[in-house]
Amino acid sequence: MTKRIWNFSAGPAVLPESVLEEAKENLLSLGSTGIGILEHSHRGKAFIAVYEETVALCREVGGIPSDYQVLFLQGGASTQFFSIPMNFLTADQTADYLVTGSWSEKAIEEAKRFGKTHIACSSKDKNYSYIPKAISYSEKPAYVHFTSNNTIFGTQWAAEPEIPAGTDLICDASSDIFSRPIDVTKYGMIYAGAQKNLGPSGVTLVLMRNDLVERGAKDLPPMLQYRTHAKNDSMYNTPPTFAIYLMGLVLKWIKANGGLAGVGERNAAKAGKLYAYLDQSKLFKSTAATDSRSQMNVTFVTGNEELDAKFCSAATKAGFDGLKGHRSVGGMRASIYNAFPPAGIDALIDFLKKFEAENA
Ligand SMILES: *Cc1c(COP(=O)(O)O)cnc(C)c1O
Repeated sequence: MTKRIWNFSAGPAVLPESVLEEAKENLLSLGSTGIGILEHSHRGKAFIAVYEETVALCREVGGIPSDYQVLFLQGGASTQFFSIPMNFLTADQTADYLVTGSWSEKAIEEAKRFGKTHIACSSKDKNYSYIPKAISYSEKPAYVHFTSNNTIFGTQWAAEPEIPAGTDLICDASSDIFSRPIDVTKYGMIYAGAQKNLGPSGVTLVLMRNDLVERGAKDLPPMLQYRTHAKNDSMYNTPPTFAIYLMGLVLKWIKANGGLAGVGERNAAKAGKLYAYLDQSKLFKSTAATDSRSQMNVTFVTGNEELDAKFCSAATKAGFDGLKGHRSVGGMRASIYNAFPPAGIDALIDFLKKFEAENA
């Protein structure tokens, strides 16, 4: 087999090797069914068992209470950007958005189609390099939306923002879902495209409290109403069967690795090592404010664009892929989601040291 390299892609991203091996075995025949996982009907017994196991693992790993739905939807997190206001915001209401990066901006833009919006805080003044401390809400927000981890800018909320009584917290957790312990009861809804921490692209995990499911607009096409998917176990239409299967394997892997507490510790150690190196480096520096640093996406620069480019091309040659930063930040970004192995962090730090010594 071709040697696997260190994959720092921001998404779709690296998956646990044991998960890929297990999926590979089940491509030709899922268990002893004689039919591959990609070929099973979503209405058949074999796939229903896969679906039920994935939901059960999700509930167990995430500590999801029984009054929350676990839905597998399509259209990516980007579809949630408009589905949320379409369902929960009317023209006379205001939805509050905590704007901490490009994904938050996209989310609030979609809400403007359906009702009024209020920016409760923003870190745009410093190119989204920090998580604001002061939040100022509108009088009666229909809901409060925030992005828990800012994939592009390398910042992350250390804890959920406090919200006013009588509203619901909605979170785009696409790039840090199940990367650390979470108290789901603080949220009305959590959603995440799977392709960063949970599996392949093609499925979006939506966790939603039942009363929100019920509250959603009733005059929308059925596919755009959450209740349709809740009522039909995410099988109103053909679900992304393979992506659901793979998410189940990833959840099993999380469970075997100590659950959210275990992966949380591992992620903190991985990111901590990398930031510790950057903090003492004379060449590289982290771009995010110290108290706002992401454990998932570590953004850093040399301060010299030519040197950044030289680093990226040398890194690619040395077997480190996907380190080029997003164009809105420049420099470098190491995406080190759940499945990124600790040994890859050590290898990267060795390479950074070597580059620093050669380019001091
Ligand atoms: C990647 C990402 C998205 C976009 O997800 P799609 O599944 O491509 O629509 C949205 N929000 C955040 C925080 C992301 O990291």
